[in-house]
Amino acid sequence: MLNKKLSFMLITDSRDKLRHFQLSYRVILACAILAAFLFITNILLTTSFVKSQVSAMEIKKLKAENEQLTRKFESLHGKVSEITAIYDQLVEKEVVIRNIFNLPEIDPEERQLGIGGPTITTSYRTVSGAVKAATSTETQVESLLRLANFEKEKYQEVYSTLEKKKDQLDHTPSIMPVRGGYISRGFGIMTDPFTGNRQPHTGIDIANRTGTPIFAPADGLVTIAGFSGSGLGNMVELSHGSGLVTRYGHMSRVKAVRGQLVTRGTLIGYVGSTGYSTGPHLHYEVIKNGTPVNPMDYIVNLNI
Ligand SMILES: [Zn+2]
Repeated sequence: MLNKKLSFMLITDSRDKLRHFQLSYRVILACAILAAFLFITNILLTTSFVKSQVSAMEIKKLKAENEQLTRKFESLHGKVSEITAIYDQLVEKEVVIRNIFNLPEIDPEERQLGIGGPTITTSYRTVSGAVKAATSTETQVESLLRLANFEKEKYQEVYSTLEKKKDQLDHTPSIMPVRGGYISRGFGIMTDPFTGNRQPHTGIDIANRTGTPIFAPADGLVTIAGFSGSGLGNMVELSHGSGLVTRYGHMSRVKAVRGQLVTRGTLIGYVGSTGYSTGPHLHYEVIKNGTPVNPMDYIVNLNI
């Protein structure tokens, strides 16, 4: 069969020439195989080319995304730096508050304990793109978070301490119990107006008109309110806690009631001259842990 031949006759346009070819089946088969081979090779090459083109596009797209992510992380890195600057300002304020109120300082090393992990300050963009940028930003955020939690605790400490201090201050007789008048007799060894002898005066006398209101100089509890046979006449005693007691004598009228809770500025009575007195005045005592002390040492503002 393969040895058989096929004859072809070609007739040109002018029909005056006839061309005659003979091809064996063997040759025809070889041509067919070659054609099939070329066709398959062509398909494979085309597929491979299309694939490489798609992959190049994918890489280009990923590169663009990577660039975009790097820029985003750089921007985040900048924002976290801004937050860190604000955090530093908060720490500075906390230090100032501690100084003003004589609170113990925080060791800077203790404050820095929250910081860990590598700090990358150079351009990480050139190192390894978005992943490096993301890692750096994450480290920065984690450090800041630890520091912020530490600082929150410290502020809570300051707040609690100041709250206690405020409570103490509220219970300290830091203002004059009457407005106006003058100090007619000071604290300590003074001449007794009745006997003329020099003897201890356990408080101060503030001369003022009868009926001048007397105000509690601090928060406290009324422990005595009424007439006393001790020479103080109509009197009031306030307990302010922490071993601090104040007494008010010679009142014309007592306004406070035993067991009443008063705050700074509560009306407790009126200036008078009851008891052991030569004229209208307030006898004002401050007693610390059972011992009379000079009330003037507690007054922080004489104008109040
Ligand atoms: Zn007195």
